[in-house]
Parts: sequence; C-alpha cells; structure tokens
Amino acid sequence: MYRTHTCGELRLSDAGKKVTLAGWVQKSRKLGGMTFIDLRDRYGITQLVVEADADHALVETAGGLGREYVIQAVGEVVERASKNPKMPTGDIEIRLESINVLNKSVTPPFTIEEVSDGGEDLRAKYRYLDLRRPPLQRALALRHRLAHEVRNYLDSQGFMEIETPYLIKSTPEGARDFVVPSRMNPGTFYALPQSPQTFKQLLMVAGYDRYFQIVRCFRDEDLRADRQPEFTQIDCEMSFVEQEDVLNTFEGMMRTMFRNALGVEIPDPLPRMSWYDAMDNYGSDKPDIRFGMTIKDISSAVKGCGFSVFDSAEYVGAIAVPGCAEYTRKQLDELTEWVKRPQVGAKGLVYVKLNPDGSVKSSVDKFYSPEKLHEIAAECGARNGDLLLVLCGPKRKTQTQLGVLRIEMGNRLGLRDPHVFAPLWIVDFPLLEWSEEDGRFYAMHHPFTAPKPEHEKLFYSDRKEDLEQVCANAYDFVLNGTELGGGSIRIHDAAMQSRMFDVLGISKEDAEYKFGFIINAFKFGAPPHGGLAFGFDRVCALFGGQETIRDYIAFPKNNQGRDVMIDSPSKIDQSQMDELFLASTWKGE
Ligand code: ASP
Repeated sequence: MYRTHTCGELRLSDAGKKVTLAGWVQKSRKLGGMTFIDLRDRYGITQLVVEADADHALVETAGGLGREYVIQAVGEVVERASKNPKMPTGDIEIRLESINVLNKSVTPPFTIEEVSDGGEDLRAKYRYLDLRRPPLQRALALRHRLAHEVRNYLDSQGFMEIETPYLIKSTPEGARDFVVPSRMNPGTFYALPQSPQTFKQLLMVAGYDRYFQIVRCFRDEDLRADRQPEFTQIDCEMSFVEQEDVLNTFEGMMRTMFRNALGVEIPDPLPRMSWYDAMDNYGSDKPDIRFGMTIKDISSAVKGCGFSVFDSAEYVGAIAVPGCAEYTRKQLDELTEWVKRPQVGAKGLVYVKLNPDGSVKSSVDKFYSPEKLHEIAAECGARNGDLLLVLCGPKRKTQTQLGVLRIEMGNRLGLRDPHVFAPLWIVDFPLLEWSEEDGRFYAMHHPFTAPKPEHEKLFYSDRKEDLEQVCANAYDFVLNGTELGGGSIRIHDAAMQSRMFDVLGISKEDAEYKFGFIINAFKFGAPPHGGLAFGFDRVCALFGGQETIRDYIAFPKNNQGRDVMIDSPSKIDQSQMDELFLASTWKGE
C-alpha cells in the first residue's frame, strides 16, 4: 500500500498511530538540527519531522529533498509542540522513521502554494503545476460537486442524459463556427456545435421527452474573462411543457445546487422580471439586484427649462448614488471621463449633489433652480447626501449606459459581495431585434424560439412596428449581473418555422440548406417542447465567488484562444494539408 492516509486527514485523535503518507514536498527547512517537511496532496498538507538524532541516512535523505519531490514517508503521528490553528492538520506532525523518494523534481518555475509567485503566462504554460495549488483544486472540486448535483437532480426528475455529435453542421446560435475539414468528403467541412440545439429538438420529435447533457460547445468569438472558445453547457429540453413547467423544473435544479454545494437557500419562488422592466430600471437584461440604485426616467421633469441638451434628447435618465454627495470636483471629472470611454460611450455626465445640509449643487445650476433640482431628486428617490448622476440620449442606449455606470458605482461602493446571491428569471423577451445597420430582424434568442401564443397574429403581420411588439416565451436565468442560462418554448410547427426564417430574411433555399432537416422533422408529429441551457463554467465561477471562468476549467485557453501549454493551435504538416485539399493563404510569420 502506497499510503495509509491522505495528507489532509490526520488529527490529534490519531496520535500514536503509525502511518504512511505519500505526496509532494511543498517545502523543507532545517531548524536546530531537525528537518521539517510540508507534504502536500490534494487533500491537504501534513508536517513531517525528522529529529536531529534520527538515523543518519534518514537525516541525509530529508536534507536532500527538493521542492515537488514525490515521497513516501513512514512515521508516527505525534502532538505538535507549536500548533498551527490555521491548518486542519495543524495539531499534529509525523515523526519520521523512513523516507522513500518515489521521484525527484526539477525546481518548479513558481511556488506551488495557496498564493503563487508565478505570473499568469508562466502558470498557464505549466498548468499541471498550477493545478496542484489548493485554489484550483477547490475550484475543480466545486465543479465536480455541481455536475454531480445536476445529474442527481435531473435523473430524479426523469431526465435522460443523451450525447449528441460534435461533428455537425452549422447551429443557429449566431456566433462564428469552428470548422473541421472532412478528409473522406474532400472540399467539405463539419462545423463544431455552438450548442446541441437542433439535436435536442430532434430528440423531442423522437419522443425522448426529458433530455439533458453536460456538453462541450464551441464558438469562435472574441474572448473575455467569462468566455472560452470551448465551454460547457448544461443543456436541457422537455416535451409537453409550457414556460411555467420549464422555469419550475430548473429553479428546482438551481435550488438544489445552491443548497447542496453551498448551503445557501435561494428565494422560493425566484423573482421574475420582464425584459422591459429590466431594461428600464437596470439598463441591462442581466440585472444585478443585490443593490438598488435603479434607473429613473426624468425626461419630462427636466425638459422645457432651457437646457437644450436635455430638451433635444429622446430620453434623460438618472441614478441616485447613496452617500456620494461628497464627491470632489476631481472625482466627478474622473467619473465624467469614465463614462466617455468607448466601453460606456456617453457624451457627458450631469450631476446633482444633494448635500447633507439640504442644499443642492449641480453642473446645470444655470438652467435649474434649487427647487426644481429638489423636485427632480425626489422623483429619483434620492436623499440628502446622495449624488444624482444623469445621462441623456436615445432611450435604450442611454439606459444601457446608465446600467454600466450603476454597476461601476455598485463596485466602488462595495455593494457587489460575490458571496451574496441574488438569482432571478428575466422573462417576456422580444422575439425579434431590428438591426439598423443591416436593415433586417435578428432572432433575439435563436430562430427556433416561438412567439407567445397571444402574439401569433402580430407575428404574421408585415409591418415592422408590429413585429417589434412580438414577445417570446423566452427566459434567462440571471445571477448577480451575469446571465447563467437561457432558453425558450420552441416552434414545433413546420409552417411557423418557415415563417420565422422568412421574417429573418433567410431565403427558402438557405433555410432548406441549413435547417431543412429540422423543418422536415417537424412534419412528422413534433410535440410542443421547450428547454434551456446553462453555461456551466459560469455557474461554477459564480458559485465559487469568482468572475473569471478559467480557474474552473482544468485546461483553459488564454485570451488569444491559445493553449500555451501544448502550444495549440499550431501548423500542420503539408502532407496533412494535401490530404485535406487545403492551401493556406496566410502571409504572416
Ligand atoms: N441553445 C441555446 C443556447 O445555447 C439554449 C436553448 O435555447 O436551449 O443559448
């Protein structure tokens, strides 16, 4: 037996036992003739000690241990003279009788401890060493736990986990596809799935009325902290359901995950907010409802006082930032520059300070009397000591900017504690989104989402204004300002699906070429169905209190979509290119 115990399990109650441990040497130090060794495995760290008067060979071996050597150590569990209350094993140490070096290690490029001294790039290159660190081990353990909870819960609800192919044809999520050339069918390509959307719908046609899959998806998009080119979804679909059934089922899943993995109880039922309310009040379709500071429409209050910027704006909105009336000139200037950054895109920022003594001061004092400013502030629910921040412009654009500013102020005021959880459903999404640039409609969710039954008539209208009004039975699960999942009730009627492609300006031929198989399947008795998918990496990160998903993926890509450890993507042999009838036109290095 290599070991009798792990490095995380021995306690004072084990004193006197003879044990064998195996693991990695985190560090070893000499103190007054004694050698202390911290031995690590994924369960914890145990201190080993070689006494000064121990066998000479043992003292020699202990002295020669380097960082990350793999050893097997035999000894007796003894109470420590100086205990370490910060370590679960801190009351004991192992007085060693023998050490067996199982493998040596070259000096690792960074310290493998709770907090490492290695930079991000270096740690990415040696990911297998970084993965030895406790924070990453905790992250992957949480991921495992959550996946386990998902499977347990869905199994208990009668769902079947069914795999769908990775080498497929373009899917409808609207991102760029990764493609794979086919050697056996020269000149043609598979696309990697952006999601199993079409397959899960076909499974409904096939009668597998409760499907799920924890599945890899691929989207060739620009990367951010919460995006990876390959990511994992908890993908689900159900037949003979209405929106209510889907929301209840998956609210239950989330409740179980929160309870069993974190010991957190979430509200029952979860709050629901319409997309329109989310946009109007939070300037975002993924509102963070851990704090207030909601957006107020002050358009009518501010117009007609001679300030032409407001008078000519479609919309004027404000947030009341609690306790920030003390902001200095310099801070306000900095904030003004901040909203003008391209990421926010506002033209300028107007402020109103409600001083604690009841007086007001504003950047538009020239146009508004103190009484009028008080009136506006009251409309926003602001109190003495608050700072009103005002933006204006086209309605949705300005609300979105105010939404970004609201999150920023929430961050600055420490209102976004990652260990406080405020989940909710966003419902009643518009079915379609008009693009001025392209002069056409896009599906807000994807082209398989059905209009609400009461909006079906509007859906067949030819007027743009009517189509803009059509709502979908689509829903997103939002947590702390992040969209964790989304889905919809689907179209299950071939004629309505064709109408949808029509509305989206997709030609009959194109629709037939891309999605003919699903339109055809709908002709063979497709049941009413709906579903959703959760971004599993994001779920893990948020449950772990982090924004970036990378720590929750064993082998992630960097911001350039590269795996620097295995050096991929990389060139392939000319012979491989020839076999696939590929030629590169890339002229770079
Ligand atoms: N396939 C969708 C997505 O990946 C989710 C769904 O509609 O079920 O966003």
